[in-house]
Amino acid sequence: MISTQALPLRTLPLTAPGQVTLVGAGPGDPELLTLKAVRAIGAATVLLVDDLVNDAVLAHASPRARIIHVGKRGGCKSTPQSFIEKLMIQAVQEGEVVVRLKGGDPFIFGRGGEEVEHLQAVGIPVTVVNGITAGLAAVSSLNVPLTHREHAHGVIFVTGHAKPGDSGTDWTALAHCAREAKLTLVIYMGISSASAIQAGLLQGLPASTPAAIVQRASLPQQRHAACTLANLVETLQAEQLGSPSILVVGDVISGLAQLQQDTGAAGARQAA
Ligand code: SAH
Repeated sequence: MISTQALPLRTLPLTAPGQVTLVGAGPGDPELLTLKAVRAIGAATVLLVDDLVNDAVLAHASPRARIIHVGKRGGCKSTPQSFIEKLMIQAVQEGEVVVRLKGGDPFIFGRGGEEVEHLQAVGIPVTVVNGITAGLAAVSSLNVPLTHREHAHGVIFVTGHAKPGDSGTDWTALAHCAREAKLTLVIYMGISSASAIQAGLLQGLPASTPAAIVQRASLPQQRHAACTLANLVETLQAEQLGSPSILVVGDVISGLAQLQQDTGAAGARQAA
């Protein structure tokens, strides 16, 4: 039977030999790191770094730390997860202070959950430090809220990229749900399947539903375009927007779309 008593918060030190700290490196802008992330990065003797982590974040690492780029840049395309997990376990066993640095938040489409399960299964404790997820940074950079008392009662973070063999998201069902419950859709990894996403969403949402594409959110190279659901793919192509991008669909974007119609096409990020 599950106890209804409140359990005390498990308190591990932020970083220490014998454990792994999973750290969210945020969407790119190094100023969006949390103070806790900076402290964990600075204490690490080994850092395993994902592709989408901005190198500027590594300025907080000790000059003596070993930095291992994993993901595509690390050349471990075939079995990345098992390879990364093996590296982490090995480094822990060697007495290193191990930090696993992941883009955005480790628990939003970052496979952080799988890594925690694997590490815990071999008895390695894990601490997680949140990061600002790309979906939040993308809309905030446009001064668009994800929720709004008039336009959106909530938000759904959804991936456009299904695991091989998985049928993936039912975009039509999601569109009906978003329409009825007034939800903003924030779509990660949606570029390569944008046509299927658009076609599915159009079955349940009006063609005029405002949408936006934000590429490289929070970085100096950020570019975005506002459009409608009906011309999402056309806009992606016309503006040559590609990965990494966030697609946002919902009435919260309406102000931005209007502004863009008035002022021209795709926007670049204003210098901070
Ligand atoms: N854990 C990450 C998401 C990893 S999935 C997070 O919380 O942000 C990778 C996807 O995230 C990319 O395909 C893209 O859709 C999105 N993404 C990551 N960084 C981004 C950025 N700076 N701008 C726009 N999209 C980004």
